[in-house]
Amino acid sequence: MVKLAEWRGKALFRKYGIPVPAGQVVRSPEEAEQLTGSGSVPLPCVVKAQVLSGGRGKGGAVRFASSAKEAREATAAILGLDFKGEKVREVLLEGKVAIARELYLSIALDRSLRLPVLIASAQGGVEIESVADGAIDHQGIDPFPGLTGYERRRVARTFGLTGALAQELDSLLRALWALYEGEDAELVEINPLAIVGDHLVALDSKVIIEDDAVFRHPEYAEIQDDRTPLEEIAREKEIAFVQLDGNIGVIANGAGLTMATLDVLMELGGKPGVFLDLGGTDDPKKVTEAFLLMAEAHPRAVFLNIFGGVTRCDTVATGLVAAMRQVPESNRFPLVARIRGNNEKEGIEILRAAGVTSIADLRASAEAVVAAAGGRP
Ligand code: ADP
Ligand code: MG
Repeated sequence: MVKLAEWRGKALFRKYGIPVPAGQVVRSPEEAEQLTGSGSVPLPCVVKAQVLSGGRGKGGAVRFASSAKEAREATAAILGLDFKGEKVREVLLEGKVAIARELYLSIALDRSLRLPVLIASAQGGVEIESVADGAIDHQGIDPFPGLTGYERRRVARTFGLTGALAQELDSLLRALWALYEGEDAELVEINPLAIVGDHLVALDSKVIIEDDAVFRHPEYAEIQDDRTPLEEIAREKEIAFVQLDGNIGVIANGAGLTMATLDVLMELGGKPGVFLDLGGTDDPKKVTEAFLLMAEAHPRAVFLNIFGGVTRCDTVATGLVAAMRQVPESNRFPLVARIRGNNEKEGIEILRAAGVTSIADLRASAEAVVAAAGGRP
C-alpha cells in the first residue's frame, strides 16, 4: 500500500486541477524562514507535520505562524517530533486561509460492494468516523461511465451549495474522479474541503495508491514513507516482510498459509508482530537472510509454519539452522516449527539436530508459540 504524505497528495491535486493553498514542503527551520521571508510561501501560514497518521490538528502537529521567525520556530518545534510512532522529517508550509465552512469528500474503494464509493458530508474537518451515519452520503460509482452528472449534483445538495459554488464543486468532482482513476488510487480523501470566500479549497489530502497497480506508476515505487527501516531493507533484498504491532514472528510460505497462520495465532490470543513470506524460495541463503532480518525485529517467539512444495522443507531447515548460529546471544528467542510436505523427514531431522522439534499439528504448534511469547494458552 502506498500512502502519500499530504504534500505529495496535494501535488496530485494541483496536477488534476483541485485547488489547494500555495505551499511548499521543507526539511529544516532555516528553509521555513527563508521561504516565508522571501514570500515564496504567503504569511500568515500553516505549519503542518507530514506524517501519515491523521488527527494532527488536535495533536499539536498543525501550527500557525504570522512571521518568518514564527514559521522557523514552529518548524523547529514540529521537526523530529514523534507523532503516533512516526518521526516527523518533513513539514508543509502553506498559506493560511479564512475558512467559512469545512466539508468532507472522498472516493474510496469498497471491496464488499466491489465499487468505488463517493462519500460526502457537510460536517467536515473532523474524523469521518465520528460523524453520525445520517450525516454522511454514500454513492456507489459504476466505474465504466464514471462519476455522472446526477451523482455530482447530489453532492452539491448534500453540501447545500448552489450557483457558482455548485459549478466549482462540479469541476472539482470531475478532477477528483480523474485522479482516482488515473492514479489507480484506492482512496482519495479531502478533509476538510473548505469554503473560502466564494471558492472551494482542499486543505488536507489523503491519497492511497492501490498496491497491485504500483507497477504502472514507477514514480511511487520509490516512496517509502510508510515502510519501517527493516521493511525497507527487506524490500531491497526482495523478501516479503511486514511489521505489525504484536510480539510473535511468523515465517511461512505463500500468502494463503501466511495469512491463515496469523489468523490462528490471533484466535488463540497471540499477537503477531512481524511476518515473513518465504514464497517459493529454494535457496537456503535466502532463508538465512530472511531469518536474520526477523531476529532484528526482536520477536518474543517465532513460529515457522512451512508447507514444503517448491520451497522444500530441508532447504528451509538448512537455511534456518545456519541463521540460528549467527544470531547473537542477546537476540535469541524460542522457535516453534511446523514443517510438512516435500522432504519433510529430512527437514525435521536437520531441525532436530539443531535442537528444534517440529510439531505436526497446527493447533498444538500455534498454542506452543503463543505460550512461549507469554500469551494465553
Ligand atoms: P489533520 O486531518 O491531520 O488534523 P488537517 O490538514 O485536516 O490535519 O488540518 C487540521 C485543521 O487545520 C483543518 O481542519 C483546518 O481547520 C486547519 N487548517 C489546515 N490547513 C489550513 C490552511 N491552509 N488554512 C487554514 N486552516 C487550515
Ligand atoms: Mg484532515
